[in-house]
Amino acid sequence: MRLSRHAILAPVPGRPDQLLVQPLSGQAALLEPASAAALRALPAGGALPASLPEETLRQAGFVVDGEAEDAALLAAARAEWAEEAAKTPTQLVVVPSFGCNLACTYCYQELFDPTAGGLMAPEVIEAFFAYVERHHGAESPRPYVTLFGGEPLRDTPAHRDRIARFLGGARAARLQVAAVTNGHDLAALLPLLSSGPVKEIQVTLDGPAALHDRRRPHASGAGTFARIVEGIDGLVEAGIPVNLRVVADRENLSSLPELAAFAAARGWLDLPDAKFKTQIGRNYELFGCASRQEKGALFDRVELWARYVELSEAHPELRRFHRPRFHGIGHLAETGELPAPNFDACPAAKKEWAFGPDGSIYGCTATVGHPSHRLGRFHPEVVRDDAAIARWRERSTLTISACQGCALAPVCGGGCGAIAWNQHGSAQAPDCRPVPELYGLGARYYGLGA
Ligand code: SF4
Ligand code: SF4
Repeated sequence: MRLSRHAILAPVPGRPDQLLVQPLSGQAALLEPASAAALRALPAGGALPASLPEETLRQAGFVVDGEAEDAALLAAARAEWAEEAAKTPTQLVVVPSFGCNLACTYCYQELFDPTAGGLMAPEVIEAFFAYVERHHGAESPRPYVTLFGGEPLRDTPAHRDRIARFLGGARAARLQVAAVTNGHDLAALLPLLSSGPVKEIQVTLDGPAALHDRRRPHASGAGTFARIVEGIDGLVEAGIPVNLRVVADRENLSSLPELAAFAAARGWLDLPDAKFKTQIGRNYELFGCASRQEKGALFDRVELWARYVELSEAHPELRRFHRPRFHGIGHLAETGELPAPNFDACPAAKKEWAFGPDGSIYGCTATVGHPSHRLGRFHPEVVRDDAAIARWRERSTLTISACQGCALAPVCGGGCGAIAWNQHGSAQAPDCRPVPELYGLGARYYGLGA
């Protein structure tokens, strides 16, 4: 008997105990340090302490007798993963234009030519819906369209025309539309958006007014906070779901409690999750860094969430604003179960596609507009680079050679193909995620076993 190859022991920061997770069976337990050591010593003939009943450990899949049992656990988990993946709708990301009305200090898209492709022409929008009907029309669940940029929601006659065409086309095709926006022109576009079918609007606030305005000014230099807040209030009033994003780094993380207090005072945090949710993200590290971003300001994943846990302990009200997921530990704390395993974290060219203003097709939001990642065209004619598409589609921890035998594969999923490409020159390379560290932070944040 030994510890399963896929069991993960995660130290909990600031506590003596360790979190034992078997992602293949969805089981987790907190162990005293002595119990964790005893489990590790099993192959050398160690004995189990009385606190660890063998039958319980076996049922949870924490311990196995050998390779055959590990292989059976893996096969069952892969079947569960495939079933879950089939329930995920495809996201069709459309960039009507790479242009933007803001001048954020950390914009990674400054490397792209904002005029490339101009504003998507009406006939290109028609071609997009024809392509979607042909290539995604039979999918169940139904795909959804996400307007992305650049900035897709601008209050100009030409942009209004395109937004109306996307909403009309989506309505006719029975698709919902989401948008990722800087929020600057939201208030003016509310009547148009309220006509639907809008699934969700993602909008970014980077902190309280002065800090946000410094990081995310209008191209004219003017502040944007007040207008964005007016837009969010309008969405809330119209019943349109809001996904509030904060791009966090060393400059603004400590101001999150102030932003949380602002959101609470606005009544946003009283809304149900289906109407208002938050996400905290890091700046993109792709394709070179934004020139005006202070390089030392970026957090790595562990630092970001370690600092967030500390901040939440000092400011418990932050928990109402955002509860991180910590690779499924949030789900475990809230439901008593870990989420299904995920052997593939990268949806590019599988559950996500992206469409540029010039009629080009890409695999995802991170690669859209990048000439090396063009996978074909949907206008003026449909051309698909099947070999390039196949390379993206086959990427998962089942095919990346470095991931073979990695215990973290069902949680890490191989990370992001675009980051892997950026670092290793190929998407068929690993982008490792700090799973044990985040498990440990999650156990601490959610007070598991405390
Ligand atoms: S390449 Fe990265 S950003 Fe793009 S879909 Fe894959 S994981 Fe997401
Ligand atoms: S990307 Fe790295 S951590 Fe993730 S499964 Fe592959 S080898 Fe393991």
